Amino acid sequence: MKKEYMMMTVLITEDPGRSIDVYLRPLVDELKDLWTNGVRTYDKSTGKMFTLRAAVMWTVNDFPAYAMVSGWSTKGYMACPVCKEDVTSGWHAGKVCYLGHRRWLSWDHEWREKDKQFDGNTERRLRPREWSGDEILDQLNRLDFAPFGKTVSRTRPSTHLNWTHKSMFFELPYWSKLKLRHNLDVMHVEKNVFDTLIGTILDIEGKTKDTIKARLDLERVGIRRGLWMNRDNVDTAFNRPQRNNDGGVRNEKLSVFAQSARPFGDPARGESLSEMTWR
Ligand SMILES: [Zn+2]
Repeated sequence: MKKEYMMMTVLITEDPGRSIDVYLRPLVDELKDLWTNGVRTYDKSTGKMFTLRAAVMWTVNDFPAYAMVSGWSTKGYMACPVCKEDVTSGWHAGKVCYLGHRRWLSWDHEWREKDKQFDGNTERRLRPREWSGDEILDQLNRLDFAPFGKTVSRTRPSTHLNWTHKSMFFELPYWSKLKLRHNLDVMHVEKNVFDTLIGTILDIEGKTKDTIKARLDLERVGIRRGLWMNRDNVDTAFNRPQRNNDGGVRNEKLSVFAQSARPFGDPARGESLSEMTWR
C-alpha cells in the first residue's frame, strides 16, 4: 500500500475495556452524519455531484475486542456472545470450556445420537435462540450501566448477564436492524486451532492438550475409559506384568518397561500432580 493511502486513525496503548466508547465517540458521530445527511461527492463518470451516504455493515475484531465493541463480555462461563445465557460451558482441565456444539446440528443429524464419541450424552436440545438486534437493544435499554471510567466498580448485577455496557454503535439508526453486527477476525482463531490440533496429534511437549488434567477430566466425566490415568496397584493393559517381557520381575535393564504408572494426585482432592506420573 502506498504511503499516502495509509491512515492511522487512533492508537490506544492500553486495554480500554468498556470505555472504548470514549474513543468511538468521534467515529460514531461521523457515521451518524454520513447516514442521515450524507456528504456531497463528485462522480467522475457522469461529471455530476451527488449525495454519498455510508453505513457500517459490521465490525471485524478478535475475541477480546468483541467484548468492547459489542458490550457483551467475552470472559467467564457466558463468554459466547451468540449463545449468551443459554451457553453450555463448564470447568475442564483447569479452564472454562464451551461445549454442547452438537446443539447446532440439524435435528436428525446422526452425531446427536452418538454419546460415546462425545460427552457421554445424546444431544436433544435445539440450538440456542437467536436474538434479533431489536430484541437485544430492547434488553439493553432496560439495564442500568455504571458510567465509564477505570475507577468505577466492576461488579455487575446478575440481571445484566454478561452485558457490560450498551454499545455506542446502537446509536446508529440502522445498527439494531443488522443481522450480523460483529465478525471474528479468523487470524488468531485459525492459528490457535491449528496449533492445538498439530500439537496434540504430534504430541509436542508443551503444546499438546492431551495432558494429565485432560485425562483426569475424562475420568470425572466418565467417558473414554481407555484413556484414563492408571491408578497405582491396579492392573490395566498398560501396567500388568504380562505386558512386560521380564515376567513382572523388575530389573535394571528393563526398568523402562517394568515401570508401572505412578500414583498421582487428584487435584479435586487438593493433591498435587507429579511430573513423574506421565512416564
Ligand atoms: Zn455459543
